Amino acid sequence: MNNAEIIELAHASLINTYGCTPLAFVRGHGAYLYDADGNRYLDFFCGLAVTSLGHGHPRVVRAIKEQAEKLTHVSNVFHTEPMARLASKLDHLFGDGRVFFGNSGAEANEAAIKLARRWGHGDGGRFEIIATLGSFHGRTLGTLSATGQEKYHQGFQPLVPGFKLVPYDDVAAVERALTPQTVAVMVEPIQGEGGVVTPHPDYLVRLRELCDRARLLLIVDEVQVGMGRTGKMFGFQQTGIKPDIITLAKALGGGVPIGAMVAKAEISAVLTPGTHGSTFGGNPIACAAALAVIDALEQDGVMANAAEVGGYMIERLRAIGAAAGNVREVRGQGMIIGAVLTHPAKSVVDACVAERLLVNGTADTVLRLLPPLNLTREEADAGLAIIERALHSSAAAAKAAKASGAA
Ligand SMILES: *Cc1c(COP(=O)(O)O)cnc(C)c1O
Repeated sequence: MNNAEIIELAHASLINTYGCTPLAFVRGHGAYLYDADGNRYLDFFCGLAVTSLGHGHPRVVRAIKEQAEKLTHVSNVFHTEPMARLASKLDHLFGDGRVFFGNSGAEANEAAIKLARRWGHGDGGRFEIIATLGSFHGRTLGTLSATGQEKYHQGFQPLVPGFKLVPYDDVAAVERALTPQTVAVMVEPIQGEGGVVTPHPDYLVRLRELCDRARLLLIVDEVQVGMGRTGKMFGFQQTGIKPDIITLAKALGGGVPIGAMVAKAEISAVLTPGTHGSTFGGNPIACAAALAVIDALEQDGVMANAAEVGGYMIERLRAIGAAAGNVREVRGQGMIIGAVLTHPAKSVVDACVAERLLVNGTADTVLRLLPPLNLTREEADAGLAIIERALHSSAAAAKAAKASGAA
């Protein structure tokens, strides 16, 4: 089937929840994807921060193949070696953590919310969670209620009670929102979907202090920036603090669905047999893939590359943006990069896709880059050259529109 045939077939039967780009992909290799018409695309999108090692990474492919041939599922009534090994690995990476497996970011965050509530239930009947405006924590009713974006709430009210939303990067606002019922604060280290909003370096440090003072759990949603994207395994590790609970998904499985909540041992103890679960959670194929991802991150210099090439891209993008004139700010860390434009990002995204570079627009005016962490400098330059042309053509179009509007 070609692009058009696949797209037509899909749209005939899918519920229309995604505003899709009309492309259908059939295979990928490293930083490149190939569509059903045989065109090659450079991928700075990575399936929304999922395929962080690029496509078809040999470690991940081998792990999936070998596990698929042995065993694909037994449920959490039993144990498997990949699940045991991955739990142990995440336990050590976090530092005496206890792990719950699900299949997505929303499920990981849902587990964190339930853990916080259950912990608070036994600690004065506290249940309220403070989250932030502009955040994204998922689409289940619980995680949607923690998501500080009105547009995602529309038509789904009433939301789950017990959530309060305060401005991001504002510790005083959290402090003002505290009540005797407050049990936890939930934040992203960098707001990804919200526009690559990068807080002051001491934000998490000061939140940690506040949480310690007020006996609150600090939940850090690492679903987008975790697993090396900022140049460290977890985003919170850029700050020196330790959260009480972190959540992981997206890049954890190298393209296979998996989510995980990792919590401090003493807190996690309130989740006892029967209190929470997920049929597919800890699936052996997903866990084998995740172990391969972690091996690559730890042994192949991938995170150092993300920091170095990502830092280079941020610098170059600042220079390109200054010359093009339609970039207000370039922000991010490592391989999560946002260029805030003076106009909607869509024209730039479309111009890049037309030149076979996949990028993403978010929060209306933010051009978001989520390249593979093992991107080479040559691949970075190839993508940046396309972005440079796209920014210039969009700047020229915006200027012409303004001039004709004024005339
Ligand atoms: C994508 C995302 C989620 C939701 O993950 P799903 O796998 O789509 O449920 C949650 N939190 C953050 C920070 C995300 O970027």
